[in-house]
This record gives sequence, C-alpha cells and structure tokens, in this order.
Amino acid sequence: CAVDQGAGAGGGQPSGGIRRRGLMLVLSSPSGAGKTTISRSMLERDDNIAMSVSVTTRPPRPGEEDGRDYHFIGVETYKRMVDRQELLEHARVFDNFYGTPKGPVMDSLAGGRDVLFDIDWQGTQQLAANARQDLVSIFILPPSVDELERRLRGRAQDSDEVVRKRMAKAADEMSHWPEYDYVVVNNDVEQSIASVTAILHAERLKRTRQVGLAEFVNGMRGAEAE
Ligand code: 5GP
Repeated sequence: CAVDQGAGAGGGQPSGGIRRRGLMLVLSSPSGAGKTTISRSMLERDDNIAMSVSVTTRPPRPGEEDGRDYHFIGVETYKRMVDRQELLEHARVFDNFYGTPKGPVMDSLAGGRDVLFDIDWQGTQQLAANARQDLVSIFILPPSVDELERRLRGRAQDSDEVVRKRMAKAADEMSHWPEYDYVVVNNDVEQSIASVTAILHAERLKRTRQVGLAEFVNGMRGAEAE
C-alpha cells in the first residue's frame, strides 16, 4: 500500500517518485472524552483518510445512522463474522460486541489511504500484535473526571444506570494510556484536532513509511553530476 507523498502528506515536500505506506491511526478514549468530534473533523479536513466503520451488536442511539456510525448487526451475524475471520479485531465493550471489518480497511490501505479507527484498548492491542509498524495510536483524555461526567450526562441519551456504568468503566479504560504512542488531553477541541493533525502529518513523513527515497536522492545526485 503506497501513495504519492504529496497526496495529503501535509509536509510540502517534493513527491517525485516517493510513495508512502498507508497507516492505521487509532483514537481511543473513555466514551465522552470528545473522540467522535475529533475523528469527524479529521475526516472532513483530510481527503486521504478513511474511517473504519465498526460492527456492533448494540442498538443505535438517536441520530446514529447504520453504515455511517456503525453497522448495526445481531449477535448471530457477529459470531459468524468472528468465525469466518472477517474482523481485524473484535472485543466485548460494556455489554455489547464490537469489531472492525477487515475488507474495507484492507481496500483503503491498498488504495493508498490512511485509516482512522475509533476502538477501545482491547482492539488497539490486537492491531498492535498484528500490524505494529503500520499503527499509530493516540489516547484522548478528558480534561477532568467532572468534565467527563458532565459530557456523559449532557448526552442525555443513556439512562442513569448506563452513565454510572460508563463512569466506572472510564477509569478502567483510562488506565491503558501507557500503551499508546501519543496522549492528547482534550481541553479544547480545536487544539486537540490540531494536535492529532500534527501527529498524522509527522507520522506520514517518517522515513520508514516512505518508499523510493533512495531512488529519489540518487536521481538528484545523478542530475548534479551531468
Ligand atoms: P459506543 O457504544 O459508545 O459507540 O462505543 C463504546 C466503546 O467501544 C468506545 O470506546 C469505542 O471506541 C469502542 N469501539 C467501537 N467500535 C469498536 C470496535 O470495532 N472494536 C473495539 N475493540 N472497540 C470499539
């Protein structure tokens, strides 16, 4: 999987003959830390990144769209996908099952696009075990526990019981921050988007992700000798 470096590298470098391996950008956080807003904005602002749409067995929340936010499926379908190894990673989160369909991710990477994942620490660990060199992981932290609770309540879509459970789980989820490459505290959403964008741009320019650099430099030396 390779793309022209100029396409979305954000680095303003020459692109002659240099291609790039696609990368898998994972954003994890406790629910309510602002991850969804950040990932939506990344997708809007950068044509070279595709969102991985997960499957889930949980019912849709108001405003969620099948195929855009998730593929909403039944437990039987989920189990069949696991059995057939159609999921790149899968995990039980709270009381539901979630997983990343393999096909669309592979298609995007093969087409030279980076892929953005909104998955939990369990899924991130599984991706890291299988494709460490292509993975860039970012943990988004809320500015405080009070703010996290305020945001979870602000949604008003989940019952008190669900909010209470999620607050309890948030501490658990947050304990996994040391497993991530980067940590962004979401004090201000615009600043966080800028931080994630900067990480993405720098990671795209990593020497090890660029193919054809030697030929590119040798070509310049050849031209110099003429
Ligand atoms: P929610 O139900 O609030 O949309 O998501 C709950 C949690 O499940 C979030 O932390 C989210 O990142 C995680 N999640 C969503 N899709 C996947 C997936 O495909 N795999 C894994 N491992 N976690 C997921």
